[in-house]
Amino acid sequence: MKPSSQLIYILSKNQGKIKEINAILSPYSLTIRSLFQDYSVEEVNETGSSYTENALLKAHHGFKMSGNICIGEDSGLEIDALDGAPGLFSARFGGETLDSKEKNKQILELLKEVPQEKRSACFVCVAALVWQKGEKIFEGRCHGFISQEIRGNSGFGYDPIFILPPYQKTFAELGEKIKNRFSHRAIAFRRMAEFLLTDM
Ligand code: IMP
Repeated sequence: MKPSSQLIYILSKNQGKIKEINAILSPYSLTIRSLFQDYSVEEVNETGSSYTENALLKAHHGFKMSGNICIGEDSGLEIDALDGAPGLFSARFGGETLDSKEKNKQILELLKEVPQEKRSACFVCVAALVWQKGEKIFEGRCHGFISQEIRGNSGFGYDPIFILPPYQKTFAELGEKIKNRFSHRAIAFRRMAEFLLTDM
């Protein structure tokens, strides 16, 4: 596959996520674009029982609707002291109506008795690629800790409560450049880029 001007669709309406993925992929000259921008496509319900199933559901739907190579992505935050919650339900944790700040507050409340050394957590990202000849999964994990309070303004979702151990700062304090070096999404999408540019 030629490294110049390669455009790949993703079945996502989340422009924050797409911007983040494009920053991760910029050294590879790959560009991601929402399929919803160019095609009239219905959204897919995340009915799978794993990140992989959900990512594949989205990627297959996008490929079927457009005939283009398509990415589906699913991600979440797993907190050990909460037996892996919110996990697969990270986007809906506490109900559809809670905004990110309220979700973060709820997690801090649930962990209020938990000491720092037991607040371990992991961000997970699974990206599925579906094209004419097959499908492939790329996974990334980023281990860290949940903070005691909301810290920082950058990023989205659970970024203000996720501490990256080498820096002892949250993703929201560290900003996108450092997040995009270490994040679950960076690991998964760098793997995908290597595959697209060398093995496909
Ligand atoms: P989905 O992948 O669109 O189903 O959403 C996963 C949810 O996990 C999002 O709503 C975010 O709240 C959370 N999440 C996933 N990745 C990140 C991240 O990099 N930073 C903060 N929150 C994230």
